[in-house]
Amino acid sequence: MGLLVLKFGGTSVANIPAIENVASKVAAEVGRGHKCAVVVSAMSGVTNQLVAYCSEISQIFDTREYDSVVASGEQVTSGLLALALQKRGIPARSWLGWQVPIVTNDVHGKARIRAIETETLEKSIGQGEGAVIAGFQGIAPDGRITTLGRGGSDTSAVAVAAALRADRCDIYTDVDGVYTADPRIVNRARKINKISYEEMLEMASVGAKVLQTRSVELAMKEKVPVQVLSSFEEAAGSDLPGTLVVDEDTIVEQEVVSGVTHSRDEAKVTLRNLPDVPGVAARVFGPLADNSINVDMIVQNVSPDKAKTDLTFTVGRADLPKTLEVLDAAMKDLEGATSESSADVSKISIIGIGMRSYVGVASKMFKTLAEKGINIQVITTSEIKVSVLIAEEYTELAVRSLHTAYGLDQE
Ligand code: ADP
Ligand code: ASP
Ligand code: MG
Repeated sequence: MGLLVLKFGGTSVANIPAIENVASKVAAEVGRGHKCAVVVSAMSGVTNQLVAYCSEISQIFDTREYDSVVASGEQVTSGLLALALQKRGIPARSWLGWQVPIVTNDVHGKARIRAIETETLEKSIGQGEGAVIAGFQGIAPDGRITTLGRGGSDTSAVAVAAALRADRCDIYTDVDGVYTADPRIVNRARKINKISYEEMLEMASVGAKVLQTRSVELAMKEKVPVQVLSSFEEAAGSDLPGTLVVDEDTIVEQEVVSGVTHSRDEAKVTLRNLPDVPGVAARVFGPLADNSINVDMIVQNVSPDKAKTDLTFTVGRADLPKTLEVLDAAMKDLEGATSESSADVSKISIIGIGMRSYVGVASKMFKTLAEKGINIQVITTSEIKVSVLIAEEYTELAVRSLHTAYGLDQE
């Protein structure tokens, strides 16, 4: 018996039969004597539709109103699941972000959770009431609704689990665990039984959208055991059928490369003819940071004449219009500087803790891509990851070839 936080993603609550299925899963856990807090996403496709409505009005919108619009999807599913639980004789109520409250900062569109006040929530759960919490949303210090960035319900769930000191956070989705690559692209991908927080963090940060990056960051910091599992299978959560995200030292066998990921959410910006003098990078990246735009891969060339240089970097594809607007203003006084951008790029990464102790891991990646005639535009590395930027059209080919090259294919 314990306290579990169960999170159900968009496909798991896609329609009423799916919500009924979720209610049955929660009822089974309650039947086993667990106390449960449930976190839900919006029905699949709903958030995309809401984002599209905002973009239809304007490409660059007031993110406070955007948050008010896109947070609404989770309100619907939290209420519906509470109703489905009540139908099964389980007392339950819905909680919106502001009702808990889940307090965030005021970076609308990608807010960070600052604190969760659990007193009222704990009282309700203590009285045997199932809590169904709307994921993805919170409240800023000034009282306005915020959202946590796409995929943010994972972070809501881990944050609730940490705040309630839950025994585990089960993330139910449409795959039965974390795989060595996105199973939608690589049909020979293998399910990983246990993965370290650190590898999962790197995998999520470079595109394995099965968990939102911040949720893994938080789980690692707060030591929340996380399980990823399918909501479409009979097996019960308590039997640990999914992938466990845990501390590195509990994993006996470590692969050199544990996974290959891809991300199409990238856009590349190149600035040409920048003066090669101190302070220029700060003048470009400062205003981007001020506008909460994350810059990821960066390369700057050494200029042959020491006068002008080129700078290439990537930003999230959704941030591209705003990035170009900010750069326009930032580059006004940089005479002769020009910018160009492209969104048809994709980032391919290999991740593995074993990389720390083996050499030749990166060169194998470059050789594999070269053999397929795939040109590498930008490269970045960390201790346990190598990422390359390539033309988007080669995404599948690159991921599958690397998956085979590192011996990850299922027998
Ligand atoms: P949910 O709506 O439940 O939050 P998501 O669509 O956000 O689900 O995440 C699940 C999806 O993540 C899977 O359908 C799968 O296509 C994708 N995915 C990408 N990389 C991986 C991976 N390495 N392992 C498992 N799933 C992955
Ligand atoms: N509904 C939100 C999204 O689609 C949050 C989530 O599903 O985690 O991004
Ligand atoms: Mg998700």
